Amino acid sequence: MHANAISVSSNAKLLQSKASSHAVMGAVVAGVAIIIATILSSYFNEGSISLEAMVASQKHNMVLWFLDAMPFIFPLWGQYVSSVLSYEAGAMVMDQTHELRTYTIALEKKATHDSTHDSLTNLPNRTLFIDRLQQSVNLALREKTNLAVCILDIDRFKEVNDTLGHYNGDRLIKQIALRLTGIIRESDTLARIGGDEFGFVLPRIANADDLKKLGKKLQKALKTPFILENLSLDVSASIGAALFPQHGNDVDTLIQRADVAMYIAKQDNSGIVIYSKELDGHSPHRLTLGGELREAINNDDLVLYYQPKIFCKSNMHHAAEVLVRWQHPRHGFMLPDQFIPLAERVGLISDLTVWVLKHSLRQCREWYKAGITIEISVNVSSLCLLDPEFPDVLTGMLASYELPAKSLMIEITETSIMVNPERSYQILNRIADMGVGLSIDDFGTGYSSLAYLKKLPATELKIDKSFVIDMLGNDSDMAIVNATIQLGHNLGLTVVAEGVENSATFDKLKAMGCDILQGYFISKPVAAAEFFAWVEKKVQGFGLQACSLPGDRPDIPVDAG
Ligand code: C2E
Ligand code: CA
Ligand code: CA
Repeated sequence: MHANAISVSSNAKLLQSKASSHAVMGAVVAGVAIIIATILSSYFNEGSISLEAMVASQKHNMVLWFLDAMPFIFPLWGQYVSSVLSYEAGAMVMDQTHELRTYTIALEKKATHDSTHDSLTNLPNRTLFIDRLQQSVNLALREKTNLAVCILDIDRFKEVNDTLGHYNGDRLIKQIALRLTGIIRESDTLARIGGDEFGFVLPRIANADDLKKLGKKLQKALKTPFILENLSLDVSASIGAALFPQHGNDVDTLIQRADVAMYIAKQDNSGIVIYSKELDGHSPHRLTLGGELREAINNDDLVLYYQPKIFCKSNMHHAAEVLVRWQHPRHGFMLPDQFIPLAERVGLISDLTVWVLKHSLRQCREWYKAGITIEISVNVSSLCLLDPEFPDVLTGMLASYELPAKSLMIEITETSIMVNPERSYQILNRIADMGVGLSIDDFGTGYSSLAYLKKLPATELKIDKSFVIDMLGNDSDMAIVNATIQLGHNLGLTVVAEGVENSATFDKLKAMGCDILQGYFISKPVAAAEFFAWVEKKVQGFGLQACSLPGDRPDIPVDAG
C-alpha cells in the first residue's frame, strides 16, 4: 500500500513538473507577444519605434495593459490546471491499482484452489489430503486424541473405463463422490487421491468399532446401483483403514498402513479391513513395487524366458511359451506370480503385455533371421480382453516385425474370459479372424461351462499342470487328463499338457494322443540364447528331429527383415 502511495505521488509530481514547464512556456510566449504588440503600437500610434514611444504606448494603450497581465495569468492558470489534472490522474491510478489488486487476489485464490482440489469432483486432492492429515495429526498429538485414515478404492473401475469409455468413467466417479460426501461430517475430510481412490481423514473416529460402522455406511451408500447410459451399474469398493496413534503416529506411516489394509480388502473381497501388524507379511515391499514395475517396463528391465512346447507328431514345428521375469535390483530375480497380480491391480498389465509382445516378437524375428521358425505363445490377462484396441495393437506389432499372424498364439485362462464373456468373445473373434492362435490355458481350474467353451474361437486347449504333474500316481488326475484330451479333440482343438516333469509322464501322454508337451522334463523356461541352443541341439533326445530350417514355413519370407 505504502509503495503504491509513493508511486502515485511521484507520478503526480511528474505531471505537475510537466504542466509547470508548459505554463512557463506560455508566460514566455505572452512576454514576446507584449514586446511585439508594444513595438507595433509605438510605430502606429506614436509614429516611431523608440524607447519613449514604447513607454508612451504602454501608458496610453489599454489593450497592452490587458496583454501585460498575461504572463501572470498563464502560469497561475497552468499551475491550477496541472494540479487538477495530476490529482485526477492520481485518483485514476489509485482506482485501477485497487481493481487490479482485487483481480489478482481472486486469481491467486483460484490458483490455490485448483492446485489443492480435484477438477472433476471439486474434492480436495492428494496434496490437500496429506496437508489436512498432517494438521489433524498435530492437533491429535497436542490434545491426545485419536483419529482414523481410510482409503477407499472402487472395485474393477478399470472395466467401467474400458467398456463404457473415460467420459462415463468420469461421470461415475462424480456420482460416487457425491454419495460419499453425503456421509461424512463437516470436520472430516474426503479427498480424491487417485483415479478411483478416495481418502478420508476422520478426526472423531477413535476405535475399530466406529470404523466398522463407518465402513458399513460407506458400502450402503454405494449399494444402490448407479445409472450410466441407461445401464444400471453395481459398484462396490474396498476400504483400508489405520488408526492414530495405534497404527502409526506420522502421516506417511498412516497412509501406507491404510493402503496395505485396502490392498488386503481388495484381495479378500472383504469390504473393509483395519490395519494390523499381521497384514505386513503380505505387503512388505508391495507398495513401492508398483512404481518400480512401471520404471522396469519403461527401462526394459524385464527379462523374457522361453519354455519349449514339443509337438508329438510333427518334427517341423517349434513353439515356446513366453514367460516374463523381473531382475529386480534389490529383491533379486522375481517370478511372475510375484508381480503379475500387482501389475493387474495398479493398471500396468496392458503396458506389461505390450512389452512382452513387442520383445518376444522381436526375438521371434531374430530367430527367424538366424534360420529357425518358432511359434510363440504369450500369456494375456483378462483386462486386455476387454480392450477394443488390443487386436489392432497385435496387428501393428506383427506388421512391424514382418511376421505372419500364425507365428503368434495368445494364452488366456477360462477365468479371464468369465470376467465379461460377451465382450471377450468380440475381441477374441477379431483376434482369431486375424489368424492369431488362441489357447485356453490352465484348463480345468476355472468354472466355465462347455457351452462357453464351444463358442470360443480357440485353437488349443492346455491341460493345467496341477492335473499333469501327478497323473501317474493319481487316478482321478489321470481320468481328467484323459477326458480333456478327448474333449479337446472332439472340439477340434490341439491339446497341450503342461507340467510334464518326467519321462514316464512324457511317454504316457504321447501314448494317450496328447498333441503337444511342455514341462521341466523337456526344459525349464530359459533365456533366449539358451532356448536357441536347445532348439539346435537337444530336440533329438526326445525322439524328434532337429530344428526346422528356413523354408519349413514358406509363409514367412526368408530374406525379409
Ligand atoms: P502359466 O501360464 O500356467 O505358465 C506355466 C508356469 O508353469 C510357468 O511358471 C512355468 O515355469 C511353470 N512350469 C512349466 N513347466 C513346469 C513343470 O514341469 N512343473 C512345474 N511345477 N511348473 C512348470 P512361471 O513362469 O512362474 O509363470 C507363472 C504364471 O505367470 C504363468 O502361468 C502365467 O499365468 C503368468 N505369466 C507369466 N508370464 C506372463 C506374462 O508375460 N503375462 C501375463 N499376463 N502372465 C504371465
Ligand atoms: Ca500360460
Ligand atoms: Ca498354465
